Amino acid sequence: MSEQKIVPIHAVDDWSDYSYQRFKVYTAKQLDQITQLEALSEETRFEMKVVASVLPFRVNEYVINELIQWDKVPNDPIYQLTFPQRGMLAPQHYDRVAEAMRTGMEKKELDALIKEIRNELNPHPAGQMEKNIPTVNGEPINGIQHKYRETALFFPSAGQVCHSYCTFCFRWAQFVGDKDLKIATKESGDLVGYLREHPEITDILITGGDPLVMKTRNLRAYIEPLLTEEFSHVRTIRIGSKAMTFWPQRFVTDADAQDLLDLFEEVQAAGKHLALMAHYNHWQELEPEIAREAIRRVRATGAQIRAQGPLLKHINDNADDWARMWQIQVELGIIPYYMFVERDTGARHYFEIPLVEAWEIYRDAMKQVSGIARTARGPSMSSDPGKVEIQGVTEVAGEQVMALRMIQGRDPDWVQRPFFAKYNPDATWLNHLEPAFGEERFFFEES
Ligand SMILES: *Cc1c(COP(=O)(O)O)cnc(C)c1O
Ligand code: SF4
Repeated sequence: MSEQKIVPIHAVDDWSDYSYQRFKVYTAKQLDQITQLEALSEETRFEMKVVASVLPFRVNEYVINELIQWDKVPNDPIYQLTFPQRGMLAPQHYDRVAEAMRTGMEKKELDALIKEIRNELNPHPAGQMEKNIPTVNGEPINGIQHKYRETALFFPSAGQVCHSYCTFCFRWAQFVGDKDLKIATKESGDLVGYLREHPEITDILITGGDPLVMKTRNLRAYIEPLLTEEFSHVRTIRIGSKAMTFWPQRFVTDADAQDLLDLFEEVQAAGKHLALMAHYNHWQELEPEIAREAIRRVRATGAQIRAQGPLLKHINDNADDWARMWQIQVELGIIPYYMFVERDTGARHYFEIPLVEAWEIYRDAMKQVSGIARTARGPSMSSDPGKVEIQGVTEVAGEQVMALRMIQGRDPDWVQRPFFAKYNPDATWLNHLEPAFGEERFFFEES
């Protein structure tokens, strides 16, 4: 723990008092230094170490001291969001690593075992590695994904970590330090070169990891070139980030916080839209005063904050929490944007919720809020053919079916097409579904 006690953040007028708040993180090696964990059993702490050896673990003091309500542990949603739990590994994987650690297996052998298990966890879902790698002058380039016509994703190499890690992260493979699993590039030049060749791209989504772990001057190096006349086709710059939750100081007390806000303002001044795609999982993330101050400051730049995040067992699998989160977001000036279905990777079995149940939660949450807060699309699967939304369960000509809609498609002509699957209350992903009405295949499947 820090020598310096973190003062609880309540209503604050002068943020300069808080500038001492250091960014201090704990990783798997430092688990024993987190004093709050001393209240947990020896066995629980050992389980954490086993899981943290396979899945990424990183948590900072703000999350530990301000976001987690320790009297609710182990059921606190932010604790589940950041701290490894035994159930996050399949029993056979858990047992193998636990046994190895108990018997003091040699490091080389243990590393090989961990690598083997990681490879069994579908590290790159939805064909991320093979299908979405674009080229410039015929050369494949890393760090860019271009799956949907109007939007390109850019992964700056310096933004491939986060201020803390989510236990369910679908980009987890990038954090575990395996070089050939990394999708990243140092080249902002590649991005510019690619955009030059693709005037159909109107949106660039800078993502990670979390691009806001970068110093503002580095982020600026990527964004500033896009504000020139040459890239007038780029209308919206999105930044995907969880800093609003994991490190709101990024917008308030960090040394280059003001420079970041200035950069947002410059994007707006250049006539483009700066969209902060903020990752939120629970209303508890919106409670600390500094989290609200960060929102106020970003909004004051003219940028818009949109909220998105997955539906997860153990964290937010009930309608009341979603309704409350959406309502608070609206009151703070954030637009609810997406409710995602947990992806088919990593600790998925721990977090997954059947699609039918996900839709019921979504619907029950929608029922509790007014139209202003009903802007979140979902529940949506980011699957190989595209983003597929579960519209609901219904009956057509005597057959019970699931109505689905392609919100984003690999082929632009698929966008907004409705389709039907046989009712399947156990399915948790698109590949578990079969076409309704005795059809051979879904419309997007090749014949
Ligand atoms: C979600 C997503 C986008 C953006 O889709 P919108 O519906 O415009 O938000 C772009 N690329 C990929 C790969 C995505 O998953
Ligand atoms: S913030 Fe996003 S990228 Fe970072 S750990 Fe969480 S889910 Fe993964």
